[in-house]
Amino acid sequence: MSVNEFQYQIDLLKALNQKLSGECNMYRTLVGTSSNAFLYISNADDKCLVMGNWELFFDLEIRNCNDIKKLFTQIREEDVEPLRDAIYIEETGGSTAAREFCKKDGKQWIECEVNVIRDDAGQPREKLLRFRDITKFKRQNDDLAYLAYYDALTGLYNRNRFVQELMRWMEKAAQEKAAVSVAFININDFRKVNDGIGVLIGDELLQQFAQFLKSLCTDETIICAHLNADAYCLAIYDPYGDRTMETLYEQIHKRLEKPFDLSGNQVTITVSVGVAEYPEAAETPLELIERAEIVMFRVKHENKSGIRYFDAPIIQDFVQTAQIERKLKNAVFEKEFLLYYQPQYDTASNNLRGVEALIRWRDEDGRMISPGEFIPIAEKSSLIIHIGEWVMEKAISTLAHWKEKFGVSLMMSINISALQFAQEGFAHHLIALIKEYDVSPKEIELEITETVLVDDFEHIIRKLELLRQYGIQAAIDDFGTGYSAFSYLRKLPVQTIKIDKSFIDAMLRDKAGNIIVESIVDMVNRLGYETIAEGVEKQEQLDYLKKIGCEYIQGYLLGKPMPGEKIEELLEDQLERQVWE
Ligand code: C2E
Ligand code: CA
Ligand code: CA
Repeated sequence: MSVNEFQYQIDLLKALNQKLSGECNMYRTLVGTSSNAFLYISNADDKCLVMGNWELFFDLEIRNCNDIKKLFTQIREEDVEPLRDAIYIEETGGSTAAREFCKKDGKQWIECEVNVIRDDAGQPREKLLRFRDITKFKRQNDDLAYLAYYDALTGLYNRNRFVQELMRWMEKAAQEKAAVSVAFININDFRKVNDGIGVLIGDELLQQFAQFLKSLCTDETIICAHLNADAYCLAIYDPYGDRTMETLYEQIHKRLEKPFDLSGNQVTITVSVGVAEYPEAAETPLELIERAEIVMFRVKHENKSGIRYFDAPIIQDFVQTAQIERKLKNAVFEKEFLLYYQPQYDTASNNLRGVEALIRWRDEDGRMISPGEFIPIAEKSSLIIHIGEWVMEKAISTLAHWKEKFGVSLMMSINISALQFAQEGFAHHLIALIKEYDVSPKEIELEITETVLVDDFEHIIRKLELLRQYGIQAAIDDFGTGYSAFSYLRKLPVQTIKIDKSFIDAMLRDKAGNIIVESIVDMVNRLGYETIAEGVEKQEQLDYLKKIGCEYIQGYLLGKPMPGEKIEELLEDQLERQVWE
C-alpha cells in the first residue's frame, strides 16, 4: 500500500468515525430527551447497555453498568422482580410486546415494551426494552372506570354496575334455583328538602342515607346502588328463599324513625319501597328494576310510604296505562276523537238549558276508550292541552252551527283540566275562538274541578275574574268531592255548582243523604249560584230535586251523552213544541 493510499484510508476512517460519533451524539440526545429509558441486552453473554432516563424509572443513575446480573444488584430490591419479569417473560412469544407494571409504592405505572431480536434459527439473540411512564394515562383510565361504575356523589354502585351485578346473580340463580330480590327505594318529598334547606343539604342527606344502606350490605349477598337523585336500589341474592327484603326494610324503617343530622338541620324522611323478585317478576335485570320501580310508584300514590311487593294486577294496570299513553301520542284527532253532548234540562220549564261536551275516543283499532280512563293519563303530560284545545274548538264551532240552524240560545259546558286552565295563553285562546265563531261568551261555561284551585288560588281567581268580565261563565264540577269549603266558594267568580253524582246516588238511600243534598241545594241557592244535579237516573230523584229547588238536571234519565245530530233532533222537537204551546 502506498503512503498516499494509506493516508487515504486514514482520512476515510476519520470521516467515518466523525460521522458515527455525530450520529451517536444525535441518538444519545434523542434518547436522553425522550423521557423513556432503554435497556439493551445481549443474550449470549448477558451484557447490557443502559440508556435514556433510567433514573425516572429506577431511581438510580446507572450509566456504566454493562452486566445484567450486576444491574439487578444495583437497583432497588422491589424493582428487581418486575424488571426480571419484563426481561425474561417474552422470550418465547413474538418479537414485540408491551407489559405494564406498577412500582410497589403504587404511585408509578410503567409500561415496558420488549423487542426481541432473533437469529436465523429463531433463537432470541438480543433484546431492547423500552420503559415509558404511563401513570397519568392509567389514572385517567381509573377515574373513567370509577365514573363508569360508581356514583360520584355517594360512592355506591351506579345503575351500570348494579345491572351488571344483577346479571351475574340472575345467571347464577338460574342454575342454583335461587331468587334475586330487588327493592326500589325512593325518598318521599325529597324536593322539599332540596327546595327548603338547599341542595347542599340535600346532597348530604343523599350521602348519609347511602352510607346507611351500605351498612346493611353485611355480606356479598346484599348490594346497594344509587340510581339518581332520590332513588336507590337494594338487591339480595337468596339461595334458600329465606333472606327477605322485609327484614332489611324493618331496619330501614327503624333508622328513619330518627332524624338525620345534616349540618345541624334535623331532617326526618320516609321512603316508598317497591320489591320485585327474579324469577317471578322479570327475566332481565332492567325489567326487574323497572318493575320494582312501578310497585314503588304505587306505594307512593296509594300509601305515601311503606313497602309493597310486585303482583300481577299492578303490572297489568301499568301495561294498560303505557299502551293508552302510546296510542294517545299517535292519535289523529279528527279521525279518532268525537265530541258527544249530554243535555241539561231546566226543571221548571222542561226546556234545554244547554249541553255538556264530553269527549269520546275510538282508538286506531276501533276500540272505545272511556274518558275516565284516558283523560287522567293525558293529564299527566302536555297531551291534555292538545286534547283540550281540540274539544274547545269543536264545541264552540258546533254551538255556532246550532245557533245558525235553530236560532236558539244554549249553554255549552266544556270540561277544562287544571293543566289546560293554568296555561299562559288559555284565556286569550278561548276569547279568540269565541270571536272567530261569533258566539256569545255568555253561552260558554267552563267546568272546572276543585283540583284547578289547588295550585295558586289567587292567580286562578284573577283568571276567572278576567273571563267573567268578558262574559264567560264558569261552573264547579263534581262539587262535594274535593275541599268544597263554603268559605272559599264565596270568593269564587263562578255562577254554577254541579252537585256530584255520588250525592244524588246517596240521596234516596237514607235520611242522611237526603239532608246533605237538601242543605247543599239550599246553601248554593241562597248564595246565588245555579245548581245542576249530575247523574240523575231515576224519576224519584228528579221529583225530589225539583221539590227542594234544584234548578237544573243532567243524567241518563233525561238523556245520555249523544252525538250532535241527536241534540239537533231534540232542538227540533223543542221548537215544534214551543210553536204548539
Ligand atoms: P264529568 O265531567 O263529571 O262528566 C260526567 C260523567 O258522568 C260523564 O262520563 C257522563 O257520561 C257521566 N254521566 C252523566 N249522567 C250520568 C248518569 O245518569 N249515570 C251515570 N252512571 N253516568 C252519568 P264520561 O263522559 O265517561 O266522562 C268521564 C269524565 O271524563 C268526565 O267526568 C270528565 O271529568 C272527563 N272528561 C270527559 N270529557 C272531557 C273533556 O273534553 N275534557 C276534559 N278535561 N275532561 C273530560
Ligand atoms: Ca263535567
Ligand atoms: Ca261531574
